[in-house]
Amino acid sequence: MSDSNPTPGRFGRVLVTGGAGFIGSHLCRRLIAEGSEVIVFDNLLTGHMSNVEELLGNPRFSFEHYDVTNYLYVKGPLDAVLHFASPASPADFEKLPIQILKVGSLGTHKALGLAKAKGARFLLASTSECYGDPEVSPQPETYWGNVNPVGIRGVYDEAKRFSEAMTMAYRRHHGVETRIVRIFNTFGPRMQVDDGRAIPNFFTQAIRGEDVTVYGDGSQTRSINYVSNLVDGIWRLLGSDYDAPVNIGSDFEISMLDLAKTIVELVGSDSKIVHRELPADDPKVRRPDITVARRELGWEPEIEPAEGLRRTRDYFVEALRAGV
Ligand code: UDP
Repeated sequence: MSDSNPTPGRFGRVLVTGGAGFIGSHLCRRLIAEGSEVIVFDNLLTGHMSNVEELLGNPRFSFEHYDVTNYLYVKGPLDAVLHFASPASPADFEKLPIQILKVGSLGTHKALGLAKAKGARFLLASTSECYGDPEVSPQPETYWGNVNPVGIRGVYDEAKRFSEAMTMAYRRHHGVETRIVRIFNTFGPRMQVDDGRAIPNFFTQAIRGEDVTVYGDGSQTRSINYVSNLVDGIWRLLGSDYDAPVNIGSDFEISMLDLAKTIVELVGSDSKIVHRELPADDPKVRRPDITVARRELGWEPEIEPAEGLRRTRDYFVEALRAGV
């Protein structure tokens, strides 16, 4: 096993692009708890100030409203650049296709350039979408994927695949220390009510007593991971010496129909489950092989999906009551 216990303070000063997003904001909290100074650049396209509001008064946190597809400038030293900026909900793939392609390509290039200039470690938030609609399950990191480059999901999948290729080029050509995390379906507090992904939709609909929309027959599967588990994996990866891509996700695989039923029951709602058209290229299965994360990072998903769903229900009940 490699260095799974990063030295505290080793990442003294860190830039997080997309730090006001769902995952980015959880990551910022963890970095601050680990003693880092955190700088966030976020253009708030899908991120929200409410995600980082309580960090704003912290002297080790700063926020800049900035589009990271432009030249990046940070005064002073940086120990790490964590590139988390990107819309990530399939609902955004139709609405924000050019922005997604730009932040995955130009944004990754700028973030890598900054890491190179500062001699900083670079960590890329990549995705299970690199595997597309997989013909192999579970998906190991060695699987090359089954992606439709001209389909509706292509904007996200190809941007992320490009960002991995760019990251590897900076590693091989410029010697930048790089890490790549392939993030599988992650859920938890601070997902937006109007995010459009399955878990926020199901909770929002169930709590409001609206019809719960399952796309297609609901037999397609995802493996759902609570956000703090993911953040722990990212923290371990950042400090490890393992430089190939690493899947971080749960191996709890569930069909979307069963997930919808579970959420309706958890909310205690009398919502009906209704079926809507399945979006094009929607992956039929998705489940990570997490052997590498276990072996190289000593990582294990700590919070079970059932507990994560209870916490997420409480968050959505509160968010809807507060009108967030
Ligand atoms: N889905 C659904 N109802 C919704 C939203 C999504 O049945 O209201 C399905 C979607 O078609 C996919 C799965 O849930 O099969 C997961 O979709 P999500 O948008 O959460 O993310 P993905 O894993 O596809 O990136």
